[in-house]
Amino acid sequence: MEEYPLTVPSRSAVRVRVPAKINLHLGVGPLRDDNFHDLATVFHAVSLYDELTLECGPPGIRLILESPDENVPTDERNLAVRALKLLAEHANIEPAVTVRLRKGIPVAGGMAGGSADAAAALIAGDALWHLATPPEKLHELAAQLGSDVPFALHGGDALGTGRGEHLTPLTHPYQRHWVFVTAHEGLSTPAVYAQSDRLRKTTEASDPAAVIKALDEPDPQALADALCNDLQEATLNLRPELHEVINAGEAAGALKGIVSGSGPTCAFLVRDAEHARRVAENLKNYPTTTAFGSVDGAQLVTN
Ligand code: ATP
Repeated sequence: MEEYPLTVPSRSAVRVRVPAKINLHLGVGPLRDDNFHDLATVFHAVSLYDELTLECGPPGIRLILESPDENVPTDERNLAVRALKLLAEHANIEPAVTVRLRKGIPVAGGMAGGSADAAAALIAGDALWHLATPPEKLHELAAQLGSDVPFALHGGDALGTGRGEHLTPLTHPYQRHWVFVTAHEGLSTPAVYAQSDRLRKTTEASDPAAVIKALDEPDPQALADALCNDLQEATLNLRPELHEVINAGEAAGALKGIVSGSGPTCAFLVRDAEHARRVAENLKNYPTTTAFGSVDGAQLVTN
């Protein structure tokens, strides 16, 4: 009798929605022996989402982009494919899935879109294959896939240490509103870190305490005053035109503009949703999108 792989699932399709992140604080410490930097960062999940759907398919893992983009690989370089492969190996099954990916997170924009897709793939694969993987194990697999992947599983606000994979949740009752200015051309994260190593006079990570304290304050101005990104100097050095973007956003009324992660997306903190709409309108010469945070991490969508 023919043997079927252990992949015959009882669910025919699952859909997962996963948010982008920004770093309210990005403190970059010394380069470690494993070539990562020690970080002291405050992650904040925002309401820009990628959506990933898994369906049973022919043997293997096939990824289809809903809107083809030459900057997003569809082969094993795609982090969602790598995540499914790792999960299948861990569960000792032969994957047979088709992945449909809808990108809502800017690509190579410093908002961890690839990492988000890896987290979404772990949640989706776990559900499709009925694995019931313990959360600690999912976190461990996520950390193997990339420094930002564990946070994309958890969402909310969190202090990230190590290379960003050790998370301490930060809870508070306040919602924050943002305007993002996106760029047509992405930036390579390793190139920004390398430039930062060349430019920074210190290898000490700046202290996230001010942002952590400001998260507990209702007035968004306190958070605006505390926002900090140690990579910003390097990003602005590689993309001097972003100085103009930050100035334009602040002139348009934002409380504060900051480069998101390694950039080139710029994040502008505003007072509320209506203020976000007005600032975005004032920035009509730039590609903008509005969002709020924090939001939950990767979630199954049921409907
Ligand atoms: P990082 O997470 O390294 O800070 P980023 O947030 O700036 O990166 P991503 O959108 O994750 O940017 O894309 C970085 C690169 O990762 C892309 O240029 C692309 O080649 C590759 N990549 C792999 N998988 C994906 C994916 N699922 N979505 C987008 N890019 C991906």
